[in-house]
Amino acid sequence: MSTLAQEVANRRTFAIISHPDAGKTTITEKVLLFGQALQKAGTVKGKKSGQHAKSDWMEMEKERGISVTTSVMQFPYADRLVNLLDTPGHEDFSEDTYRTLTAVDSCLMVIDSAKGVEERTIKLMEVTRLRDTPILTFMNKLDRDTRDPIELMDEVEEVLNIACAPITWPIGMGKGFKGVYHLLRDEVILYQSGQGHTIQEKRVVSGLDNPELDECLGSMAGDLRDEIELVKGASHEFDLEAFLAGELTPVFFGTALGNFGVDHMLDGLVEWAPTPQARDTDTRSVNPTEDGFSGFVFKIQANMDPQHRDRIAFLRIVSGKYSQGMKARHVRIGKDVRFADALTFMAGDRSHADEAYAGDIIGLHNHGTIQLGDTFTAGEDMKFTGIPNFAPELFRRIRLKDPLKAKQLQKGLVQLSEEGAVQVFRPMKNNDLIVGAVGVLQFDVVVARLKSEYKVEAVYEPINVATARWVTSDDAKALDEFKRKANDFVALDGADQLTYIAPTMVNLQLAEERYPDVKFHKTREH
Ligand code: GDP
Repeated sequence: MSTLAQEVANRRTFAIISHPDAGKTTITEKVLLFGQALQKAGTVKGKKSGQHAKSDWMEMEKERGISVTTSVMQFPYADRLVNLLDTPGHEDFSEDTYRTLTAVDSCLMVIDSAKGVEERTIKLMEVTRLRDTPILTFMNKLDRDTRDPIELMDEVEEVLNIACAPITWPIGMGKGFKGVYHLLRDEVILYQSGQGHTIQEKRVVSGLDNPELDECLGSMAGDLRDEIELVKGASHEFDLEAFLAGELTPVFFGTALGNFGVDHMLDGLVEWAPTPQARDTDTRSVNPTEDGFSGFVFKIQANMDPQHRDRIAFLRIVSGKYSQGMKARHVRIGKDVRFADALTFMAGDRSHADEAYAGDIIGLHNHGTIQLGDTFTAGEDMKFTGIPNFAPELFRRIRLKDPLKAKQLQKGLVQLSEEGAVQVFRPMKNNDLIVGAVGVLQFDVVVARLKSEYKVEAVYEPINVATARWVTSDDAKALDEFKRKANDFVALDGADQLTYIAPTMVNLQLAEERYPDVKFHKTREH
């Protein structure tokens, strides 16, 4: 195997999807602990608030105790190199999350075992379905009283429409949680409480029939044997092909807080999860082991480092190798640019990267020339597809306190929309600036950032817009007529794309009926 093929084969790039409070942050800490990235788990949140987060809107994040940033962590595990892309867990900023999911090859779904499948998990699973992303599942918080594990799996199968294959099975729960039985290894792994901050010394009993098990578990041993019999009969067996097709998920049980079971999941991840996958462009599919460098920008973030008030564009490498100082074609603007000092994300911290390969993420300093969805290549003119904008659901008119600063406001809003922080709409019929968001917190962030980064003070006013759609038509005449007749509701977005801003859902429905040659899109591709 060539070095490039070997580097690619070694990599796994994934993200965690979950409902807020299911335990994503805690699992991330433990995963990094296993990656030896942190000496002692428990510093991920602390670090965010202490070292990096200094700008105003990050202060806001801190105050509200939520994470609005998407960061990247790379760590070694079992001879593999794992990239974990963090996704904001809060209801707001889901657009960032969606776009991050286009940059991974697999996902870990974390479920609070006391609560089962929750609403946000359902939404995120819908997004992973767009690309049939393989999903691993971790049933968390077994150290608490949870729901019946069979019932939990049934719920996942029914609500999320994915087959469940238990890899481990819990023994007891809450105060009586004893550990798990590993169905593939035929091993009982015993849990010790109070060891959440360390990598536990493994206490393993080999074989379900082992009399040692009766010593350890007492009467529970017999129950376990019966239950496993039942589970094996009633559930799906793990099937690699079905997993890779996104049709079946291996299920692990444990407690992130107690750092138990996370390693079983990681073992499964590095063994089964796909290596960096090919990605489609408008002209062809790009293979990760191609020599020529290529990648796409899925996320732009401001001011991670208060010392550098620039923005970082996160680029997923699709093929080839990045090396410090290399040149790449910035396809949209048709120019070759030098990657002077891209960042990598080893062990949760930013550091200068010398080399990176397909599956890795690098951070490019962006001085305003990079937009979401931009493609970089070794020279070929092609564009990666599938990085979406979502129709916002909340709208406000934004107004300046000082009318002389209109230019800065425009500039700020357009830049913030380019990085996906918010969407802007400029109606054809007047000079309003309408801000559209998917989550309400976005509005606060935009005003805070306009003030700190663009020195403009702005306020919001309510506006009668219920939803927006991007409009296109193959028929230029029909589109012209639509623009004329529907003028009151036509606007341009931050990238000058034609949109329809509907005052009510009924209005939208009528417009769709009235203009059958015009297509109304809920998402726009960058
Ligand atoms: P996130 O919102 O998904 O990132 O969730 P966090 O990791 O912040 O966890 C939410 C809360 O659940 C925190 O108070 C955690 O300490 C707690 N938690 C996470 N995992 C476990 C677990 O395995 N057992 C128990 N009892 N609590 C947990």
